Amino acid sequence: MSPIDHPQPLSGNQMPRSGGIASMMRLPVYESAAGLDACFVGVPFDLGTSNRTGTRFGPRQIRAESVLLRPYNVATRKAPFERLRVADIGDVAINPYNLHDSIARIEAKYDDILRHGAKPVTLGGDHTIALPILRALAKQHGPVGLVHVDAHADINDTMFGEKIAHGTPFRRAVEEGLIDPARTVQIGLRGTGYAADEFDWGRQQGFTVIEAHECWHHSLAPLMRELRPKLSAGPLYVSFDIDSLDPAYAPGTGTPEIGGLTVPQALEIIRGLDGLDIIGGDVVEVSPPYDPQGTTALVAANIAFEILCILPGVG
Ligand code: MN
Ligand code: MN
Repeated sequence: MSPIDHPQPLSGNQMPRSGGIASMMRLPVYESAAGLDACFVGVPFDLGTSNRTGTRFGPRQIRAESVLLRPYNVATRKAPFERLRVADIGDVAINPYNLHDSIARIEAKYDDILRHGAKPVTLGGDHTIALPILRALAKQHGPVGLVHVDAHADINDTMFGEKIAHGTPFRRAVEEGLIDPARTVQIGLRGTGYAADEFDWGRQQGFTVIEAHECWHHSLAPLMRELRPKLSAGPLYVSFDIDSLDPAYAPGTGTPEIGGLTVPQALEIIRGLDGLDIIGGDVVEVSPPYDPQGTTALVAANIAFEILCILPGVG
């Protein structure tokens, strides 16, 4: 495997990490996913947010913090850039004046990525973007399994009367047959709701719902082992809302909720999916205007890398 076959992150010993172009992990930037096994792609979109905006700046800030990441995952011994051809393919040109045109543009971009046979690892963007991504994936795979890590269930029927918003994508995904409810797992849900049975619609569809308080104070490695038989039955998508984490670790997000997951628990969730048929993933809801220290974007960059490390073929 030559470096030409396999694009490599620019080393901090060739160019200081404070210098150079801040692509994701300092990878080469490609025009498209042609010739790639996996790609990082940004979706600078926040037209679906309900409270604080700002996730349109998420991809850029995640890339900026990602310059610290080195190419090897020492704890898991994963070497994704030795095994896969990976590059940053830039951002989807969303329409900042039109939500519906934007999600059509997102779907078209993911159709193109999938046509090239590449697996997308997405930097969001608010959680609305999971809907057009799943629409593209389901065209290729049929209904997919889903690991959805979030403080919120994102299963509202409507928000302010609208069907498409950052709190509705997984209701639409069920209705449209994009995900298999029996292979859908939601982890980290919590907070106040409009009704006490707020999370039960998903359970009624067949989702496995693990609320945050069930995760407090212990390792999630046993949970992931328990979920494995269910998740291993087919293609699986990972959608990671950064607000699943406690605001102590990820304050820079639009709808923060107290009592969230820890960073080690997030790593246990992602690493616990290793060996399954992962077809892509996203990290969404990073809002840089509320992230003055950059910690939220730093966590997000690392989560995106961890998702890359569990793609099939990394070994
Ligand atoms: Mn969400
Ligand atoms: Mn959320």
